[in-house]
Amino acid sequence: MADLLDTLKTTFGFSAFRGVQHQVIDRVMAGQRTAAIMPTGAGKSLCYQLPAVMLPGTCVVISPLIALMHDQLRAAEAVGIKAATLTSVDTNQAETIARFKSGDLNLLYAAPERASGDGFRDLLSQGKLSLFAIDEAHCVSEWGHDFRPDYRLLRPLFDRFSSVPRLALTATADEHTRADILTQLGISEDGLIVAGFDRPNIRYNIAPRAGTTRQISDFVAETPGAGIIYAQTRAQTEKLAAQLALNGRPTRAYHAGLEASVRAANQAAFVKSEDMVMVATIAFGMGIDKPDVRFVAHAGLPKSIEAYYQETGRAGRDGDPAAAQLFWGADDFARARIRLSEIPEDRIAGERTRLSALANLVETGTCRRAVLLRHFGESPPDNCGNCDNCLNPPARTNLTELARKLLSAVYRTGQMFGVGHIEAVLTGQSNEKVLKLGHDRLSVFGIVTGDEAEMVKPVARALLLRDALGQTEHGGLELGPEARAILKGEAEFAIAIPPRREGKRRRSNDQPANPVGDPLFEALRGRRRELAAEAQMPPYVIFHDS
Ligand code: ADP
Ligand code: MG
Repeated sequence: MADLLDTLKTTFGFSAFRGVQHQVIDRVMAGQRTAAIMPTGAGKSLCYQLPAVMLPGTCVVISPLIALMHDQLRAAEAVGIKAATLTSVDTNQAETIARFKSGDLNLLYAAPERASGDGFRDLLSQGKLSLFAIDEAHCVSEWGHDFRPDYRLLRPLFDRFSSVPRLALTATADEHTRADILTQLGISEDGLIVAGFDRPNIRYNIAPRAGTTRQISDFVAETPGAGIIYAQTRAQTEKLAAQLALNGRPTRAYHAGLEASVRAANQAAFVKSEDMVMVATIAFGMGIDKPDVRFVAHAGLPKSIEAYYQETGRAGRDGDPAAAQLFWGADDFARARIRLSEIPEDRIAGERTRLSALANLVETGTCRRAVLLRHFGESPPDNCGNCDNCLNPPARTNLTELARKLLSAVYRTGQMFGVGHIEAVLTGQSNEKVLKLGHDRLSVFGIVTGDEAEMVKPVARALLLRDALGQTEHGGLELGPEARAILKGEAEFAIAIPPRREGKRRRSNDQPANPVGDPLFEALRGRRRELAAEAQMPPYVIFHDS
């Protein structure tokens, strides 16, 4: 049999294995069942492609997205691997089936929906199999962020061909999902290989939103190189792209609503460019091979820590310094909570865990990298020296008293007003609304004075984040499940306040440095229905195979 390294060079043109690739491939070649948890971009595909080339028979690859399969197919064929996809959109299915039966395929890609059917099992028994590779294996877990029920039906298929080795691959690695992958796919614990997740060249920065467009333009202005800005909606993508283009930097937009030809052209231009800004929904990025992306910025909260890690991981694959910048707002969490109340009961626990992990990441005053790596099961040092919190350690300020005042004011005013009104009452502003409602006669009127006043909004935001405040149907604030402990003095309430950035030029209409009031609080009033509608939009389009 040819040497692994020879094949790596001659077929794939790579001079060495990366990270755990060799370890994974050795196990596969020895016929052992394996689950490899490797970050995005680590080279998971090679772990089945190389064995597929070397072993007799066909490697069946289960992959959740048709678009992904076709990308992989092109890449495999480009290096001369005999590969085919079997999906509903392929017109050459008969030919593919014939090639499989005659042993003319190294790789056969199929969607889980197809693979779990009887027809597929019969087909497989008419050819020779070398390996089952399960890509994006986290889809098998309800704990994972992309649960696909059909992944659950794969095991009986694999068990029918129990001597064929299996290789599960994913970048998702929280403990629950990991354990689920092993159980659901019948892989023993000693078959688990986890790669290091640290991306030391990426600098992580996370800040609350205060005028997204301005924050993003400032960020882009001070960050050279090509980069991706992830926006929350298609409309925001186009709006932001138009705004940024005014600054003279080449800018394009990308989302699933654009014509395929426009998307392809924009993507190709981005891959070639050294300074282009791509404003995109998360439909952009998968399967894009651009090592010199210098930054990834998020204009809103990603779906999970895994998604954040994966999306930011598109920066700096060449190992040179790169930046990850996240701007989040309280309404991101409000929207996510609305979504929470509308998903099936059995998935709420997983979603809630995911959301609180995100809340912890954005809110922490400690090393961001350490929070991320701990999430992926590693034991990192306490300080990385390359994230906002390590470079500018925030002060942790105990604001329990202010939090209690704020919660009391929300309660006393009847749990129906937005943060602007609550702030007016607390700081003793006798404006028209306050007077009309008689809120100037409440015991909470004017109880917040001096420096505390500018902390009302950041505290409200943190309370929302921690579920001590919630939002009513009309966007007003109401007490949440965590309010009680704070009101009763049983829980301390502290927030991390970053120092002001020194030497940063400020424009006249600039808002004060962090933390600042979140204008989106205001925007929330009356927008709850709209938010609820947005919350129901799928985060990105999945092409289900049938
Ligand atoms: P993943 O699925 O883990 O996100 P891919 O399999 O798509 O990653 O690989 C990411 C990139 O790394 C691809 O461009 C691939 O060609 C490249 N790559 C994989 N293995 C190696 C290697 N050993 N040396 C150099 N480049 C590699
Ligand atoms: Mg992959």
